[in-house]
Amino acid sequence: MKSKNVQSVIKRLYASGFPELYDIEYLLGLEKERDLELLFGFADKVRREFCGDGIIVRAIIEFSSFCRNRCLYCGLNRHNKNLKRYRLSKEEIMAAVKEINAAGIKTIVLQSGEDDELDVFWLSDLVREIKGNYDIVVTLSVGERSKGEYMIWKDAGADRYLLKIETSDETLYRCLHPEMSFENRINCSSALRALGYQIGSGCIVGLRGQTIPMLARDIMFFKEEDFDMLGIGIFIPHENTPLGKEPLGSMDLTLKTLAVTRIVTKNTHLPATTAIGSLGGTIKALNAGANVIMLNFTPEPYRDLYEIYPGKNCLNNESLTNIDNLEAITYEANRWINYSAGDSLKYKHTLCAFE
Ligand code: SF4
Repeated sequence: MKSKNVQSVIKRLYASGFPELYDIEYLLGLEKERDLELLFGFADKVRREFCGDGIIVRAIIEFSSFCRNRCLYCGLNRHNKNLKRYRLSKEEIMAAVKEINAAGIKTIVLQSGEDDELDVFWLSDLVREIKGNYDIVVTLSVGERSKGEYMIWKDAGADRYLLKIETSDETLYRCLHPEMSFENRINCSSALRALGYQIGSGCIVGLRGQTIPMLARDIMFFKEEDFDMLGIGIFIPHENTPLGKEPLGSMDLTLKTLAVTRIVTKNTHLPATTAIGSLGGTIKALNAGANVIMLNFTPEPYRDLYEIYPGKNCLNNESLTNIDNLEAITYEANRWINYSAGDSLKYKHTLCAFE
């Protein structure tokens, strides 16, 4: 085994096109405050080198909370009978899009559970209407569908797609996602890429049964697949799920996963995720490699009903204050708000090693 000096491992990981699993595991296992400062500080430098100091702002509309699945960690699972479900009308969504456009935001994420009632042409009409009326990028996040449906939405103008793997460990994936198929998840991701979508994945840190070697392999998977965007979330137990009594995920481990992901994947867009933000970790994430923030424009009274986990908080409750809060956060992080569409950086940058 090679040297385990923290700095040398970080630099080796940064410089290597083919990172070693044991280096990633080693960094994920760091605990001393000084070592964490080194790791987060280096990730912050890599973020600055490849993504700049602008914090890209995106807007999300959660338009349906119906879901056919029963992921063990998610409050939208179909067995949660305590949740009031909703679907937004096209008019409600377009009103939110108008608000997003007025706020100067150039990316909109349309997200839902895997809703069996979601009509492929209803969504393609919606995408077409948005693209026809606004100069705005549309990201879809509606789960596993057929390649034909993905194609129809791409033809309508959809630009990007989020489909998180949550864990790249097939056995753990099967435990957490009853009735779902790891293989289909991978196939969907490949189909989306083949159709020309910019694609996003990501994982949840702190899941029951998850180990550091598994998280290290998640990061290797992210590197191999070369995703355009990656969301590193933290497990927050929801009482109306089978994992409701499990402990909260570790914030330190989540930030380490984010930081190592930044060092390994370089120019991937990495949000300070909503899950991290709901635990007060947004600034820490921005200082450990994150370069994106998502603002929630789901209209009231629906916003609180999209309860993947309790206390979900996209910075706050109404659009204007959202921007105000974002400004406060960027100021505190000594950064600035990037209102561009924030396209993938995957095709632009070449490696330039630190001294
Ligand atoms: S994680 Fe997604 S697919 Fe799974 S239950 Fe929640 S909304 Fe449905």
